[in-house]
Amino acid sequence: MQPEPPRFGGGQPVLVLKENTTRTKGKDAQRGNILAAIVVAEVLKTTLGPRGMDKMLIEPMGDVLVTGDGANILDKMEIQHPAARVLVEAAKNQDKEVGDGTTTTVVLTGELLKKAEELLNAGVHPTIIISGYQRAGEKAAEFLDELAEQLDIENDDNLKKVAENALNGRLPDTKILFAELAIKAIKHVADKKSDGYNVDVSHVIIKKEEGGSLQDTALVDGVILGKGGTTEPAAAGCGPGCSWCPLLDTGTLSVFGAQVSPTISPANIALFSSDLKVQKTEFSAELRINRPDQMKAFLDQEAKMLQEMVEKIREAGANVVICQKSIDDKAKQTLSRASIFSIENVSESDMKKLARATGGRVTPSLKDLASDDLGFALLVEERKIGEDKMVFIEGCDEPKAVTILIRGGLKQVTEDAERALHDVLCVVADVFKDNRIVTGGGAVEEEIAGRLREYAPHVGGREQLAIEKYAEALEVIPRTLAENTGLDPIDIIVNLRAAHENDQKRAGVDVYGRRVSDTFELGVIEPLSVKAHALKSATETANMILRIDDIIAAK
Ligand code: ADP
Ligand code: MG
Repeated sequence: MQPEPPRFGGGQPVLVLKENTTRTKGKDAQRGNILAAIVVAEVLKTTLGPRGMDKMLIEPMGDVLVTGDGANILDKMEIQHPAARVLVEAAKNQDKEVGDGTTTTVVLTGELLKKAEELLNAGVHPTIIISGYQRAGEKAAEFLDELAEQLDIENDDNLKKVAENALNGRLPDTKILFAELAIKAIKHVADKKSDGYNVDVSHVIIKKEEGGSLQDTALVDGVILGKGGTTEPAAAGCGPGCSWCPLLDTGTLSVFGAQVSPTISPANIALFSSDLKVQKTEFSAELRINRPDQMKAFLDQEAKMLQEMVEKIREAGANVVICQKSIDDKAKQTLSRASIFSIENVSESDMKKLARATGGRVTPSLKDLASDDLGFALLVEERKIGEDKMVFIEGCDEPKAVTILIRGGLKQVTEDAERALHDVLCVVADVFKDNRIVTGGGAVEEEIAGRLREYAPHVGGREQLAIEKYAEALEVIPRTLAENTGLDPIDIIVNLRAAHENDQKRAGVDVYGRRVSDTFELGVIEPLSVKAHALKSATETANMILRIDDIIAAK
């Protein structure tokens, strides 16, 4: 029911908000928000870790999706509650920034709020909880830094551990393949700087095509264009003796004919950001043709211009032309007759990746083309993959952009594989950018929890209570890993605490051995950046939700 509006001097009501605006204040607002966030965290809890379960989500159109990926589950759940949506945003941000640790962030935020509620019930004011959590979060970050270890990323075995760890519980049969592909891909695209590496994950292009199996997923050392750009093969029926094809004499064109897919090997590639056409006048002009010879002269002139264009391309040494804009039909035919393979309407981002992959330069127009602008690929070939035709530009020398082509029997399979691949690429990129790692399996969380419990009494007062609750909340990670493995969480936490008190900093939940052991030795390691981001984001999100004491919803 709408509350009575306040009345000025007992007479005229004062309307501040629009009619039908609902308002929830104080404790009601707080409890409602906390509950909503806890519910979301509970949903994700059972998916945490390699032994986590999956969720089946049915989309409005009836499509069924089975996934254990935290960010994806939250995305598809179409959550309505505003506070729960804040949590979803935190998970998305984690996914975007570091690529992994989304479930951890959400589960931890939920637990921090659950513990905060206990404090609220005990009469602790929210501002005390917020400042206590803030301090605990800062201290946790410090401890995390202390616990981090350098990983030798020149050693592939180390990289494999990090990559496989990010894939644990997903893609059971192809984990090793995907980890290897991700490592290879990131090695190609990483730019070495004086103090480490710069990596842009978007330089690894992920393409997916239904058909085949996940095992057929492969890395292409170049770029695949398809579903978008249109291609014009080199002339069909052209063969030895064709006057258009001086390139033939050098034997560089390997396959001709209408039925055979066009193949250019090796390929020298000209990249244009403009369109290719016979230049037209700026103004509209009318051409009166009265005699057939005038018509012929006009056409001859056009053909000559096209021929000059082709000559220029050929002079530069190109046998493949890739254009961001369109190539007009006559130009296409002329190029084709000159055995130059042309591709048009390629997106700007693909052009940039082509330049990185082939080592070429995108030139604004034909007149700027020089031979050292050309990119190189061992092979340019059009192939039919599944239902679609794609052009492979592969065999590039030290490509700085590569493609991974995911195959899989079902759309759901390729989509889930794409998300997993994105995560593992990000995680490998994370350790290239910062090679520090921490021990997974709840080990680092338990160690930080222990240190925070020691630290709390030094702070004293009611804030101490909040710091102790923060430490308890961190234990949700090992506890949940134990629960999801079917172990008794109380036994595990007791053993884990004992191990850490005995200075076993790397003791965590061994979900396969079903006991507490040194998870570092088992190869369960995670990038520091993933953990640090998850802790920071969970602390901030929990505090943000705790700070709300008034919800005003406009209709
Ligand atoms: P997130 O979305 O947070 O990455 P995951 O479902 O990938 O969630 O689970 C990550 C958690 O599982 C981390 O705490 C990680 O240390 C732990 N984990 C991964 N592999 C193992 C393993 N083999 N043994 C124990 N814990 C593991
Ligand atoms: Mg993960």
